[in-house]
Amino acid sequence: MIIAVASGKGGTGKTTVAVNLALSMKDDCNVQFLDCDVEEPNAHIFLKPVIKEQNKGYIPVPEIDEAKCNFCGKCSKICVYNAIAVLPPQNFKKGTTLVFNNLCHGCGACSNLCPQNAIKEVHKEIGIIEKGDSDNIDFIHGRLNVGEAMALPLIRKIKKNISLEKIAIIDAPPGTSCPVVASVKDSDYTILVTEPTPFGLNDLILAAGLVKKLKIPFGVVINRSDIGNREVEEYCQKENIPVLMKIPFSKDIAISYSKGIPVIETFPKYIVHFQEIFNKIKDFTSNV
Ligand code: SF4
Ligand code: SF4
Repeated sequence: MIIAVASGKGGTGKTTVAVNLALSMKDDCNVQFLDCDVEEPNAHIFLKPVIKEQNKGYIPVPEIDEAKCNFCGKCSKICVYNAIAVLPPQNFKKGTTLVFNNLCHGCGACSNLCPQNAIKEVHKEIGIIEKGDSDNIDFIHGRLNVGEAMALPLIRKIKKNISLEKIAIIDAPPGTSCPVVASVKDSDYTILVTEPTPFGLNDLILAAGLVKKLKIPFGVVINRSDIGNREVEEYCQKENIPVLMKIPFSKDIAISYSKGIPVIETFPKYIVHFQEIFNKIKDFTSNV
């Protein structure tokens, strides 16, 4: 089973929920934890895995052989990301075909299309994938290189490690952009973490719209549930969205978080609450 944990905005407690869910289940199930928040992975701070394997992540980017290129412009036309510009020869000036590696998504369309066979694909390193163990949990995360914009290939590479015999918990990036879609896609259930504020509600509505479009069943965890207003709960009630758990604000939880200590270590009573979330999800998915 694949459970993704996402949130329409950062700072809601998404990683807290993902990490504590994994830790609460690890004694009863085989758990995998996949941190797909590759721009800012932080689950390792709480899970403290022993890293056993590191692999670099690459994308194929085009390299032009201008001796073969006739500047036909086909590669530039096919590239929907505007990553190639062809400047044909004119006024006795030599032509050139430029590749903007930072815009290239490595789709391979240009090299497949080039009639002159003038495009060779070369590997560009975009980040690193690390695998390890954290007290009975298989841990995998990716770190995107600083300044690198291509999170998707790294996220896809992380997700290739999902074992369907295990319970895979995915910590998705915040927001509702392509990396979030890539992270939550194909999950059996998505937990949306929010807070009871106008911003929390606004971003929850966006995130709920996304998972509905992907046809993924989902429920909501309201963090710092006693601060703010009731609009998130009213929205969930109106839309028939299950509220899986409410976590009241606690200074002790905030202090533990700042020290990299999971909630369930400070408050063991939460273990049973996180186990209940998993049981609800299991019941729901087995009845679909
Ligand atoms: S498609 Fe090939 S030949 Fe045409 S401009 Fe691009 S690299 Fe040059
Ligand atoms: S590989 Fe795809 S994204 Fe990259 S330059 Fe070629 S067509 Fe554009």
